Amino acid sequence: MIVGVLLIVVLVAVLLFLFRPMATKPVKLAGDEPVVDMVLVGGGIMSATLGAYLSELEPTWKIQMYERLDKVAQESSNGFHNAGTGHSGFMEMNYTAEAEDGSISIERAEKTAVQFEISKQFWTHQVKNGALGDPKTFINPVPHIAFVWGDNVDFLKRRHEVMIKSPLFSDMIYSEDKAEIGQWAPLVTKGRDDSQKIAATRMDIGTYVNYGAITTQLINHLGKNSNFNL
Ligand SMILES: Cc1cc2nc3c(=O)[nH]c(=O)nc-3n(C[C@H](O)[C@H](O)[C@H](O)COP(=O)(O)OP(=O)(O)OC[C@H]3O[C@@H](n4cnc5c(N)ncnc54)[C@H](O)[C@@H]3O)c2cc1C
Repeated sequence: MIVGVLLIVVLVAVLLFLFRPMATKPVKLAGDEPVVDMVLVGGGIMSATLGAYLSELEPTWKIQMYERLDKVAQESSNGFHNAGTGHSGFMEMNYTAEAEDGSISIERAEKTAVQFEISKQFWTHQVKNGALGDPKTFINPVPHIAFVWGDNVDFLKRRHEVMIKSPLFSDMIYSEDKAEIGQWAPLVTKGRDDSQKIAATRMDIGTYVNYGAITTQLINHLGKNSNFNL
């Protein structure tokens, strides 16, 4: 008798488990969603850039962008949320690795410099397109300075010697002179012990980029296209 009751209880439990509701909220069926060709998740520089490319390469495509916040460009791409460096391999010493034999490879720095040139060409095209406004609203010259002290002076000197052989970095200036470096970056030398060995490289064609301004302008321009929805 007890065994029979237990079997029925187990059977009911198994049936309840197999036919349990899969979600507590009603599930929105795919059929409810607008049919689009491309979904861009997030209103940052990445989606804005991809959206700009796609709207030009595939003008008939319907593009849906989703941003969970009230406005676009509020996370990493916001002008106040990142350093705004137009990464060009000029000052990033981790892009020029030193091998065990002491040789310095500038391959990664060169690749980065070339990629940034392509970014600038893309933005130039978007200015001509009317998608981006006055370049001063999103890109401005800021010298890129790599600064070191102590044992790293020798590394920076050798790095500079290798880098200026590449046409991408031939304008790079090297200095170990405290007064000169102080003119480039006063706060870096102010109060520093005169006996400390220091060195710096400087590239005048470095840039500060406001990725938030680019994001907002590109997405505003996309918004003029009836195939785009945010
Ligand atoms: C401190 C710091 C300094 C940096 N400095 C530099 C620099 O000097 N130079 C440089 O080139 N880069 C720099 N970066 C990197 C650069 O900022 C990021 O690589 C870039 O902004 C990333 O862009 P993104 O579009 O991928 O992301 P984001 O700009 O963060 O955009 C992602 C968006 O997706 C939205 N989102 C997330 N999940 C969802 C969801 N499920 N549904 C809808 N929306 C969603 C978010 O709200 C956000 O708006 C820095 C980053 C940081 C954090």
